Amino acid sequence: MRFPIIAGNWKMNTTVTEAIELVGQLRKGISSAFSVEVVVCPPFVSLAAVKEALKGTSIKLGAQNLHFEDKGAYTGEVSPLMVADLCEVIIIGHSERRQYFGETGEIVNKKIGAALRAGLKPILCIGEKLEDNEAGRTAEVVTEQLRSSLAGIDVFADLVVAYEPIWAIGTGKAAHGKPVNETAALIRRILTELSNQETADSIRILYGGSVTAENIAEFLEQSEIDGALVGGASLKADQFISMVEQAEYIYFPNNPPTKDLIPW
Ligand code: PEP
Repeated sequence: MRFPIIAGNWKMNTTVTEAIELVGQLRKGISSAFSVEVVVCPPFVSLAAVKEALKGTSIKLGAQNLHFEDKGAYTGEVSPLMVADLCEVIIIGHSERRQYFGETGEIVNKKIGAALRAGLKPILCIGEKLEDNEAGRTAEVVTEQLRSSLAGIDVFADLVVAYEPIWAIGTGKAAHGKPVNETAALIRRILTELSNQETADSIRILYGGSVTAENIAEFLEQSEIDGALVGGASLKADQFISMVEQAEYIYFPNNPPTKDLIPW
């Protein structure tokens, strides 16, 4: 049994005040009795305040990036130990970091190792560009990214993989459930080669790319997809709450609907 995850990547959005307000709205709709794992990843400067605002909920806190060194003369950077002091989860290798900040497979690999050593649960993002997709190179690109990101890593228990086709991120053009499911199955086969069947079967694979409350069910209904990494729509409380509720009812259809909500 893989517990599904709905994770919100707030990217470079929300001031500290806005982040606390958003958490206040999420608290009104996300029950601590839900079995779905819910994660929010605000900007660094809001982490401490959001941690405080999440108290008493089951919503987990994540960051969007880290440096691979534990400390040192790296002005402006944030270390795995600093992140682990506040968060459980860390997004690593997001395509925006690869595209705008020069993150290579080698850097992503170092960050994954550093995050795991610090006790963080990494959400490793991989995904192909539009031209690779159109040229039928999705499997090749995803395989290469997964292998380089995980080279030399031998502890996989806390790993989550987010398959995020770059052409679907922030474009409003989400992929479709069936091809994403096929790519997720490929990712699980590679994870099996890199670890073993039991471990690979336990790793959650998420889809990300223009997921909304209107289209999330198409992905969650696929056998190999264990949740979603949501960008833009995670900033709208009603959208995010609806996505968490849909995940709860799709993955746990026998759970009685509960409104055991956390008062603000
Ligand atoms: C993301 O940032 O990981 C993402 C998938 O963004 P969006 O949902 O906005 O496409």
